[in-house]
Amino acid sequence: MDNKPANNFLHQIVAEDLEAGRVSEVITRFPPEPNGYLHVGHAKSICLNFGMAERFGGQCNLRFDDTNPEKESPEYVASIQEDVRWLGYEWAGEVRYASSYFQQFYDWAVHLVEQGHAYVCDLNAEQAREYRGTLTEPGKNSPYRERSVEENLDLLARMRAGEFDEGSKVLRARIDMAAPNMNLRDPILYRIRKAEHHQTGNQWCIYPTYDFAHGQEDAIEGVTHSICTLEFEDHRPLYDWLLDHLPVPSRPRQYEFGRLNLNYTVTSKRKLKQLVDEGVVAGWDDPRMPTIAGMRRRGFTPASIRKFCEMIGVTRSDGVVDVAMLEHAIRDDLNENAPRAMCVLRPLKVVLTDYPEGQVERLSAPAHPSREDLGSRELPFTREIYIDADDFREEANKKFKRLVLGKRVRLRNAYVIEADSVVKDAAGNITEVHAHTVPNTIGLDPEDGIKPKGVIQWVSASAGRQATVRLYDRLFTDPAPDKGDKDFMALVNPASLTVVEGAWIEPGLAAARAEQSFQFEREGYFVADRHEHSEAAPVFNMTIGLRDTWNNG
Ligand code: ATP
Ligand code: MG
Repeated sequence: MDNKPANNFLHQIVAEDLEAGRVSEVITRFPPEPNGYLHVGHAKSICLNFGMAERFGGQCNLRFDDTNPEKESPEYVASIQEDVRWLGYEWAGEVRYASSYFQQFYDWAVHLVEQGHAYVCDLNAEQAREYRGTLTEPGKNSPYRERSVEENLDLLARMRAGEFDEGSKVLRARIDMAAPNMNLRDPILYRIRKAEHHQTGNQWCIYPTYDFAHGQEDAIEGVTHSICTLEFEDHRPLYDWLLDHLPVPSRPRQYEFGRLNLNYTVTSKRKLKQLVDEGVVAGWDDPRMPTIAGMRRRGFTPASIRKFCEMIGVTRSDGVVDVAMLEHAIRDDLNENAPRAMCVLRPLKVVLTDYPEGQVERLSAPAHPSREDLGSRELPFTREIYIDADDFREEANKKFKRLVLGKRVRLRNAYVIEADSVVKDAAGNITEVHAHTVPNTIGLDPEDGIKPKGVIQWVSASAGRQATVRLYDRLFTDPAPDKGDKDFMALVNPASLTVVEGAWIEPGLAAARAEQSFQFEREGYFVADRHEHSEAAPVFNMTIGLRDTWNNG
């Protein structure tokens, strides 16, 4: 079973529970609320919960915590399943829904009422707040707290039957209004919500609160280790109280870990939804979004996200992780696995005046410098080519290791060329460079001993293809866009997207599969867009640049 050393405190706990026979197998779950797309923080929770089951030969459920119908939707239910699968995990059995336990929750609510542990309360929200007290002052008992069991049962049944308006009544646990832990001050168990639910339709007009549902869902499913984020630590006494007072079929134990926060990023579905709703991004899967769907469209691989989650580890503190670490994980993966290709983002035409018109040489280049298994690609060489405008200057000092008038440069995987003259338009802009090839320089240094100083990418003007290339920068200009009272919406980077319409790509790239990744030499890693790329109209998204800014030393 477990023969790897524990690499976080939860592994340790589970290993000890198994060893001591406190549990016979480990059952975990990933319990998202379907009120948005999953983000990179959820990836941490997914890797932790599914990883735990994998590691100890147990099972992990996917369960929707769908107790809040107004904010949820089938689109989110579908996207969440797709994202979990894409990350490479499979849940045990069918997907589960808290809503399929609604009858059981209701029966348990009746049970609590019968035992004198719950009551129907008519205080409105404002009054309830007053009665609740503060962190330093105890609360006061609700005037409805001493209702008889019979009256409570009758009122609860009528709440369920739809007799009362939203907000007019709630069911509350009867615990202790003076408890130092505010969560124990007679918390709400059921609310009236005359809302249609995406799974149960109009069957219910009262809905359990998250706090009433969550622990019981785990108990129904036999979850042994309920792993959740630290903000639920203060709720644990309530969950334990409920489990103690209900005839639940099993007894889950809750353990908390620190949320993942990334700098330059927001990880809250509510905030991400605002970016989508207000049109700041093109949708939940916009490649700038820290959603799993966005990262996928950006060219992240499941392996890189899993690797990142492993690198950050699991602790009991909420830290901020440098986004450069996430970028490091994907760069590492793509450096190893992405075929190389050439793309010219700012095209400048070069005419090789010595090269015969109409001649095409079919040069061959390895797809990857160290991965022979990735094969080779064909690069047609012609009289007219494009190079990047930034790779040419009429004059330059020695530090400029690219093409300069009267000087030489090597075209990657092809000839050494030497620039002779430029053609300019009326405004003085260079429109063309005239150059000549240095003979016999494919794979060889010039025979005259005058070596080129640098190597640049190029694409044949007649055989190459045009593509749309989207370049991305961070979505936020501030390292902590939602910290304190900052308005994250005002900190969106106006230059987070640059669309290059007329880039030139080597011809083979047009046939890339959607979601296929490449290193565009000297530019970065790019992926064929999942939805919009086609052979007729190629579209590539930048995943990440070449330079690694994460320093783990
Ligand atoms: P959000 O605030 O983005 O809506 P949430 O916690 O409300 O997140 P849920 O759908 O309830 O979202 O989350 C499902 C699971 O993912 C929970 O167990 C939660 O603890 C975990 N989770 C959510 N955000 C993070 C995060 N940033 N880091 C680690 N785990 C997270
Ligand atoms: Mg939530």
